[in-house]
Amino acid sequence: MSQTDVLIIGGGISGLSTAWWLAQQGIGVEVWEADERPGGKIRTSHEEGYVTERAAGLLVNFRPEIDSLIKESGLENSLRQRDDQLNRYIVHQGKLTQVPMLLPALLTSPLWSLPAKLRLIAEPFISRGTDESETVSEFVGRRLGQEVLDTAMDPFISGTLASDPDLAEAQSVLPRLTALENRYGSLTAGMLVNRVLKRRRANTADTFSFQGGMSELIDALARAPGVTIRCGACATSVINHGSQWQVEGVVNGTPNSIRVPQLVMSTPADVSGKLLNPIDSHLGELLCGIEYSPVAVLHMGLKSNTIKHPLDGTGFLVSKQNHLPVNGNLWMSSMFPERAPQGHTLLTSYLGGVHHPEQLHQSDEQLSSTVLDCLRPLLDIRGSAEYVRVERHHQGLPLYHGRYRARIKAIDEQLSCLSGLHLNANYIHGVSIRERIFQGQQVAQKITKALQGSVEESRESIPLATAR
Ligand SMILES: Cc1cc2nc3c(=O)[nH]c(=O)nc-3n(C[C@H](O)[C@H](O)[C@H](O)COP(=O)(O)OP(=O)(O)OC[C@H]3O[C@@H](n4cnc5c(N)ncnc54)[C@H](O)[C@@H]3O)c2cc1C
Repeated sequence: MSQTDVLIIGGGISGLSTAWWLAQQGIGVEVWEADERPGGKIRTSHEEGYVTERAAGLLVNFRPEIDSLIKESGLENSLRQRDDQLNRYIVHQGKLTQVPMLLPALLTSPLWSLPAKLRLIAEPFISRGTDESETVSEFVGRRLGQEVLDTAMDPFISGTLASDPDLAEAQSVLPRLTALENRYGSLTAGMLVNRVLKRRRANTADTFSFQGGMSELIDALARAPGVTIRCGACATSVINHGSQWQVEGVVNGTPNSIRVPQLVMSTPADVSGKLLNPIDSHLGELLCGIEYSPVAVLHMGLKSNTIKHPLDGTGFLVSKQNHLPVNGNLWMSSMFPERAPQGHTLLTSYLGGVHHPEQLHQSDEQLSSTVLDCLRPLLDIRGSAEYVRVERHHQGLPLYHGRYRARIKAIDEQLSCLSGLHLNANYIHGVSIRERIFQGQQVAQKITKALQGSVEESRESIPLATAR
């Protein structure tokens, strides 16, 4: 199968990882990427000695498939592990407070009142839920109590997913926690069983980046033999001819067209929705109905001796009770010292999200002074920023809000009538790079099977044709 069997529209991590897994099977694959370079949300910048990320900065992994991709793509020597012993902080009552990582510390932590701690201890005795479309607030409130929801889960959902726990569907955004309840009837019991059975990867994860930043991952996938990437290639229409898909577009200013038996769409939901609307308007509507939250990333470089806090952690998250303009702040140079020049510190803040979408309209100067005013008392900063870089994502992260699984099920039903069409992007089955790569492998396996099936079918039909 040396000709182009598969076209992938969208060269972000979803599209590139699908292409990489396909190429491993010897399948000819072409990727159309509208931008002048591949990577989508993932792009590393090197400026004034600082190494910063456009969006994703860390890969949190517990899947063997990711280990295998890293090994096979030659990235092993480039891995930079984050020290797991670093503290995690939450802003609690206006101050940075350490998040307890072990059970005894959890019971003595100032984060929760005595009734909240007793409520946590009672978790194994809470009965299973019955509502499959429960929100995160309903699920966590029911199992762990309101204080844990407000203090720990709200910052996690707002800070890492730019989402709202009152609207996000628990089974979609907390699949591992909801699975523990389903399987063991309790989160505590499930975690203990996993620990006793030494299912290490079920409880813990490796967190890492790469020596030159996340772009190294993109570069490694993009140079895989068998993958042809066309940058500046924007798909403008998709036509179905039964067993073939025709994609038309503009490639570096020139109209272009390609026909393939298998098509993967790895573009944002609304782009895929509009392209597919003429073929299946219901599918188009389902996709266009997926909302995204805007996110701004502000990287700030400072002289280390102007920060009095020891920065002995990964950074901090903020709950909405604290009414701060920043959702979270990562201490990038504490995790990866080579991210800032000697004697300097790199702090990365996340703003916007569902709670503050208007922040994306502020100028770089406004955002920078908002962040510094917020960080100054928390980290005891005495100086000013020496370096600032702002990244804006108007469609930052898809919101797994409402009856999200029902929407994805309906999308799957429509897709089952469109043979050879696949969707793989961060609005289905998880936004993280880990899940994007894993889903890429799942889609590649489906395509490999379909292509092998069609080769066998055509082999079987040859003797019949010659006999005639
Ligand atoms: C601020 C921020 C921080 C994050 N941090 C982390 C993190 O630390 N760890 C983590 O695991 N995840 C993180 N994520 C999530 C993760 O980065 C994204 O979910 C993931 O990179 C999205 O990949 P994708 O390929 O699905 O989409 P995208 O990266 O959006 O790629 C889609 C591609 O499609 C292209 N395209 C669009 N229209 C067309 C067209 N018509 N024709 C051709 N091409 C087209 C676009 O140019 C783009 O390149 C973060 C996300 C954000 C926003």
